[in-house]
Amino acid sequence: MNVPAIAKSTFELLRNQPEFLSITESVMTHLNKIKSSLERARFVHNMVDEYNKEIFAHPLLKEMVPCKSGCTACCHTQVSVTEDEANLLLHNITNGVEIDYNRLSLQSEQGNETSNFYKLSYQDRKCVFLDDKGACKVYNDRPSVCRTNAIVGEASQCSTDGKEQGAIRLVKTSKADMVIVGAYANATESGTLPMMLSKVLKAKHAKDNTSIVKSLFDRIIGRKPVSKDYEL
Ligand code: SF4
Repeated sequence: MNVPAIAKSTFELLRNQPEFLSITESVMTHLNKIKSSLERARFVHNMVDEYNKEIFAHPLLKEMVPCKSGCTACCHTQVSVTEDEANLLLHNITNGVEIDYNRLSLQSEQGNETSNFYKLSYQDRKCVFLDDKGACKVYNDRPSVCRTNAIVGEASQCSTDGKEQGAIRLVKTSKADMVIVGAYANATESGTLPMMLSKVLKAKHAKDNTSIVKSLFDRIIGRKPVSKDYEL
């Protein structure tokens, strides 16, 4: 289970408090009752958004958080997803969202290893769903970790363009983090966005040889020789 680091540390801190632990437990119970992968992902996203609403409704926080469309530093970092979220992203692609397959392939080759990912250039680390204007192409269906990434202070502190990330202060999204832990604990699999997306793409391709997914798949594997241990 690759629980995102921030959610994991929140869980470790708050797991002994029934008010917080019950959030994680309730997410897991509900997820077990939902059959559709896309619905499960959206259920988690709705819960994360609901808890975040409580926090971001505070007028002071609205002034102090610089995050806005066009500010893309966190979209050049390593993002984790559950298998359900990867399926939801794939659903967006099969419904017309265009992505850079060369970059997806390059990023997925780095596996789950954070240090490998950060060896890529800043441009190569750009999320495949970030458009040229700095907006998320899958905003309504973006992963849960993207929904909890908000800082207090200067947006420039987040950038990893040619430097290490500065000392950023993240907005505490404790209840949403407890939801995320429940989702990851329930997930069949989880990992980095590029790896998981490539994986579900391959699985769909294996099932449906004639679909639009096949042509997407061919665009990835046909583009260049891949290393021996490369797995789509
Ligand atoms: S999915 Fe959207 S919000 Fe998340 S990293 Fe990618 S572009 Fe950014």
